[in-house]
Amino acid sequence: MKRNLQSLANRDYDVVVVGGGIYGAALAREAALCGLSTALIEKGDFCSATSASSLKIIHGGLRYLQQFDIPRLRNSVIERRTFLRTAPHLVHPLPCIMPTQGHLMKGQEAMFCGLLLNEILSCDRNCLKDPEKHIPAGRLISRDTVGQLVPGLATDGITGGCSWSDAYTYNSERLVTAMVRDAVAAGAEVSNYAKLTGFHLSGNRVTAVRVHDELGEATFDIPAKLVINAAGPWVNEVLALLDKRPVSAVNGLAMGMNFVLRRQLLPSSAAGLPFRRRTGESQRLLFMMPWRGQTLAGTYYRPHRGPADTLKVTEQDIEILLSDLSHAYPAAEINRSDISAILPGLLPVKHTQLVNDEPVLANHFSIIDHARNDALEGLISIVGVKYTTARDVAARTLRHVLSKLGRQQRDSGSDQRLLPGGAVPDFRAFLDQTRTSLSGRLSTDIAEHLVYNFGDELQSVLELGSTQPSLLAPLAPSTTVIGAEVAFAAREEMAMTLADIVFRRTDLGSAGRPAPEALDTASRIMARECGWDEAHRFDEIRKVDNAPIFGDR
Ligand SMILES: Cc1cc2nc3c(=O)[nH]c(=O)nc-3n(C[C@H](O)[C@H](O)[C@H](O)COP(=O)(O)OP(=O)(O)OC[C@H]3O[C@@H](n4cnc5c(N)ncnc54)[C@H](O)[C@@H]3O)c2cc1C
Repeated sequence: MKRNLQSLANRDYDVVVVGGGIYGAALAREAALCGLSTALIEKGDFCSATSASSLKIIHGGLRYLQQFDIPRLRNSVIERRTFLRTAPHLVHPLPCIMPTQGHLMKGQEAMFCGLLLNEILSCDRNCLKDPEKHIPAGRLISRDTVGQLVPGLATDGITGGCSWSDAYTYNSERLVTAMVRDAVAAGAEVSNYAKLTGFHLSGNRVTAVRVHDELGEATFDIPAKLVINAAGPWVNEVLALLDKRPVSAVNGLAMGMNFVLRRQLLPSSAAGLPFRRRTGESQRLLFMMPWRGQTLAGTYYRPHRGPADTLKVTEQDIEILLSDLSHAYPAAEINRSDISAILPGLLPVKHTQLVNDEPVLANHFSIIDHARNDALEGLISIVGVKYTTARDVAARTLRHVLSKLGRQQRDSGSDQRLLPGGAVPDFRAFLDQTRTSLSGRLSTDIAEHLVYNFGDELQSVLELGSTQPSLLAPLAPSTTVIGAEVAFAAREEMAMTLADIVFRRTDLGSAGRPAPEALDTASRIMARECGWDEAHRFDEIRKVDNAPIFGDR
């Protein structure tokens, strides 16, 4: 996958997708698989905004039972199964628990009924050949088991717990990259660092978008029959570029924030932990999960006002989430020095009023055809609310797009088609074979890390070391990331900056600050691949060093 603005600009497209988060990536893939000529433009790097801040859960929708939203639960079960099938290296089952209290809605009796209902409603969840990807049935567990799974949790006041399984993604950024690469494999033209700066209209019809090359000076137009605005939190700002301003696509935004904590606090299961900020107020829930030997924890929400680019985490935000964590799990004694990464993102709200001091998040996606809403042809806006269900929303959108363009309806097959790296029919066997076949050449940790990030594509990564064996060495003793990953990202995955490498193509920085030596080695490989001089290389290191994601700022 190469960045080539000339070939991007020199065509008329059926569809131009704006935004390279999970929604834009899924839309471009779907459109290309449906046989439409498709372009995707992203103003930063792919998966550099909300989609990178997710809590990594690929939801099966158990919690939607609380609102009895069965269609949403079913939709989540199906999409979770799709991810487990199409990206088996990146998506894995996740055991979860939650303590039970009293005898009402949070008691064992209600949880038992919920688990039973969930079992019935998700009875087809394991229609997957690989047993490693099966989601076991939920069950009630004792107080002692809760105490073992959440060490030190005060068990007085709890009656036991319920245990169920969901799924998580090992690497949300690589999952989006995989979707973008699959879109390209299906014929799409894509570019990161290509920002939509305006629209061209003929009467009441959008006919083209104006694009600025964010890595250079050029501005160019891309003509399209249809533009799909998948700009996430920027969705309204993109609409505001039109003179004849359509109605807003979202009512407002909320910031959601998670931490990566350096310690692995939970031995094996994720946990939903109830807590109160103040006595008398209603209970909230924090979620913690083991992730890459550390802990992901969140989510804290507050309203966000102003443009999406002004999102900034304040010290007060950090203090509130830290305090929530110590209320929910006092025994863990979590403090500021435990935070290795801060992951904020913006989400659409249902309305601007607060409930229990928190914004109320939108709980349904929107597919807004501006022809219908604003008499403006050629423009559709998409507002997603979950990473998990992006493929399904893309498929629904494409059904509408095909009929708008007068094309025959067709099934893209995106729910069956493996994403790059996904040809791993038996994950456990593949992991074992890879460990064995690479032993003596690479450490077990590195072999595992390659399997989880690259799946069956790991051979293509390792081949880069056949001509340059130094690329098979880790970038520093403290990391399992090897040089070949950096070269692969530059050659095959459109990595343009050191930040792309550190935060989105490799595991180097997504869970905390990488060692200076690792950054130095990675930057030297990028300099060779991209022709950077020393000044450019130092500038790239400086930008990574100053990234707001690091918890030790
Ligand atoms: C804290 C948090 C935790 C979450 N946890 C989960 C979870 O565990 N599971 C789950 O399923 N969901 C979760 N979500 C929700 C999920 O992350 C989002 O629904 C999803 O990532 C939104 O994707 P998107 O593609 O719409 O937006 P984004 O990922 O923000 O992508 C939009 C893209 O558009 C680009 N763009 C904007 N303007 C322009 C322009 N002018 N030109 C070109 N490109 C432009 C941006 O740069 C951006 O990359 C979470 C969200 C948050 C904030």
